[in-house]
Amino acid sequence: MPNAEIIAIGSELLTPFRSDTNSLWLTGELNALGITVRQKSIVGDDEQCLEESLRDALKRSPIIISTGGLGPTEDDITRKVFARVLKRPLVLHHDILDRIRHLFESRGMKMSSNNERQALIPRDAEPMTNHHGTAPGILIHEGDCLIAMLPGPPREMKPMFTSYVRPVLEPLAGNLRMRTRMLRVSGMGESQVDSLISPIYMRYNNPVTTILFNNTEVELHFTASAPTEGEAEKLLDEVCFKVEEALGENIFSHRGETLEEIIGLRLTVKGYTIATAESCTGGLIAKRLTDVPGSSKYFLEGVVAYSNEAKTRLLDVPEALIAEHGAVSPEVAEAMAVGIKERSGATFGVSVTGIAGPDGGTEEKPVGLVYVGLASDFHVKHRKFILPGDRERIRFLTSQAALDLVRRNYLL
Ligand code: ATP
Repeated sequence: MPNAEIIAIGSELLTPFRSDTNSLWLTGELNALGITVRQKSIVGDDEQCLEESLRDALKRSPIIISTGGLGPTEDDITRKVFARVLKRPLVLHHDILDRIRHLFESRGMKMSSNNERQALIPRDAEPMTNHHGTAPGILIHEGDCLIAMLPGPPREMKPMFTSYVRPVLEPLAGNLRMRTRMLRVSGMGESQVDSLISPIYMRYNNPVTTILFNNTEVELHFTASAPTEGEAEKLLDEVCFKVEEALGENIFSHRGETLEEIIGLRLTVKGYTIATAESCTGGLIAKRLTDVPGSSKYFLEGVVAYSNEAKTRLLDVPEALIAEHGAVSPEVAEAMAVGIKERSGATFGVSVTGIAGPDGGTEEKPVGLVYVGLASDFHVKHRKFILPGDRERIRFLTSQAALDLVRRNYLL
C-alpha cells in the first residue's frame, strides 16, 4: 500500500486557537483510496523548518501533500520553499495572473501587487485552479514522488483535492480500498463493552477494530480493506453483525449518527411527538433535539422551569409536592413530565431535575443527583442517576441519560 505524508503549514496551527482539521479530512480521503498516511507534520511560517520538513518527507514518502501558505503575503512561504528545495525556479503564469486580476475586478476591487506572487509556479509544475479563492494549488511530479500543494482554507482545499489530486492518485493508489464504519454504544463503559466484544473482533485482522470513549458514549470504529469497496463493506457487515448481536439495544447508532439524530429518525417514522421540561440542563435537551434539521416534525416545545414557582406555573407541578419532596425528587420529575406532556399535547413528555453543582449538594442529595421523568398515555416513570464530573459534564450526561431513556422506552 503506498504511503503519503501531510505537511500542514501555518503558524496559527501552532497556537491554541486553530487546529489542523485539513489533515484529518485528507487522511480520510487518502485511506478511502487505499493510501496510508505515515506521517503528519505541522510547520509554522518558518522557511527553515519547512525546508527541513520537506527534505525529510522527500526521503521517505512517495506522496506529499501540503496545505496552507499559498497566500499573497510575505509569511506565505510554501511556494518559495518548495521551489528552492526542488531546485525549480518560479515562473510567472500570465493566465493565472489574469484570472486573479479578473477575480478582484469582478468584486469591484483593485488587485494589490502582492497577489502577483500567487501566479508564480515552480518550473514544470501544474497549477490547479482555485474555484473558491485566489491561491492556485500546485502539483509536481518529482521523480517517483507526487507533491501537491493545496491552499489552507478547507473550503478551497477540499474541492481542489477532489477535482485535481484524487484523479492523479487513483492510479497510484494500492489495489486495496478501505471502508470504515462506526457503531455507537450508550449506557455501558468502555471495559464492559470490550469484554463483550473482544472475543469477536480479536478473531479478525481485517477489519481492524478501535474502541474509543467519547464524552458520554463508547464509539466502535471498524476499518476494512479489500480489492473493491463492496468487498470491504462485506467484511464490515460480518464483524458488525456479530458485534450488534452481542451488544443488542445498547448500540444506538449503526452508521455514526448522533443520539438526537436517531431519536429524530425514529420519532418521525413512528409519527410520535415529544416535549421537554428541564431544570438543571437549562434547555440542553431541547437544544440537542432541535440541532437536527427537520426536528419541527416531532419536537413540539421545551420549557426551562428553573425555579419552583416556574415548575408550578408552567408545568402544573403542585406546590405541596415540591414542599413535601423537594424540587430534586422522583415525584417532581414525574410531575414535570406529565405537566409538559399534558400542556403540549405531545406523545411523550421528558423531564429532568437535578443538582449540577458545584454548590447545592447535601449528604442526602449530592451534586450529580439527577431524576429523569417520562410520561406517555400509558405510564409515568422516573430513573435516578448519580452522575460524575463538573457542572458542564453533569449537565451533558443528564441530557444523554434523558435522551437514551426516551430511546429505550419508546423507540426500539
Ligand atoms: P489563502 O491565500 O486563500 O488564505 P493560504 O494557502 O495562504 O490560502 P493560509 O493563509 O495558510 O492559506 O490559511 C488560511 C486559513 O485557512 C487559516 O487562517 C485557517 O483558518 C485555515 N487553515 C489553514 N490551514 C488549515 C488546516 N491545516 N486545517 C484547518 N484550517 C486551516
